[in-house]
Amino acid sequence: MSDHNLRRESAHQALFSGKLDIEGMDDVLALYRDLFELTEKSPLWTRAQKELTSDGAQMRVAEGFALIDPGDLLPGPEAMAAMVKDVVQILGRHSEDPDALMEDMANLTAEPARLNDLARTFLTEGEEALRKELLLIEGANPEVVMFVLFNSLKSSFLEAAGRCEGIDTSAWEKGCCPVCGGEPAVGYVMGEGGKRYLICFRCESHWRFKRLTCPYCGHESPKETGFLYSEDADYKTLSAGVCNECQAYIKGWRLDGDELGDMHPEVEDLKTPGFDRAVEEKGFSRGAPNIFGVWIGTVTEEENAD
Ligand SMILES: [Zn+2]
Ligand SMILES: [Zn+2]
Repeated sequence: MSDHNLRRESAHQALFSGKLDIEGMDDVLALYRDLFELTEKSPLWTRAQKELTSDGAQMRVAEGFALIDPGDLLPGPEAMAAMVKDVVQILGRHSEDPDALMEDMANLTAEPARLNDLARTFLTEGEEALRKELLLIEGANPEVVMFVLFNSLKSSFLEAAGRCEGIDTSAWEKGCCPVCGGEPAVGYVMGEGGKRYLICFRCESHWRFKRLTCPYCGHESPKETGFLYSEDADYKTLSAGVCNECQAYIKGWRLDGDELGDMHPEVEDLKTPGFDRAVEEKGFSRGAPNIFGVWIGTVTEEENAD
């Protein structure tokens, strides 16, 4: 088994063991587990990629361009429609009203070409642009559609990250992912001197980043940048790095030693929404969703809007 597959296998075990730190949300974990398994068995739809030469890759990194253009990950109308159908089915199993969900999505899934256009908007212009387009479509709940599209494209992102694994991105200094340009879902600190790494919410690549800088707005202020810890022994290695400039926070784990081993911060993130709630109650919001595209928190839409 390759390193990549071993890591996936160990992430699988981490996700399928333990439970959430909050009562009454077990079905959320069950949904994540189903989505993880769907991604595992997804065929690779990604079109033949333009191979990045080593020089080309280094040049992109040095100039601050991510290795992959997310628009290139669009699998094509039929493949996209097939993935969407699978994700909707899973979501239906965990939905309180599966019929309404199917009805909402029917308008979209009936037209693969339009679905593909929406996925393109999502990938090339981002979440806000897609939300605007979705508000014009009758019946579609933008948050649900975005969740479905995100998870339909997940395997393409993971596959792309796998392809870029051997490329040296150590010259990358940004707070977004060197592979796909996505934001970090979580971070961790390990090794001598406490090196900090971030993990992309889309392709789940890891990259090194400055210790005391906010990855979301770039604000650098060792004095102001704070860390929130919990008294709870369950969270002994977990803290939230908070930014007083943009009010975002990022969960981070402190690891002994200099290898992750069986530790998967992006999976621990899924299991600790209670910690998010505690940090949000202090007035901070997540800087990026979790690896399934969910913002987790309890902050209301209105509060999010400003
Ligand atoms: Zn990425
Ligand atoms: Zn910030």
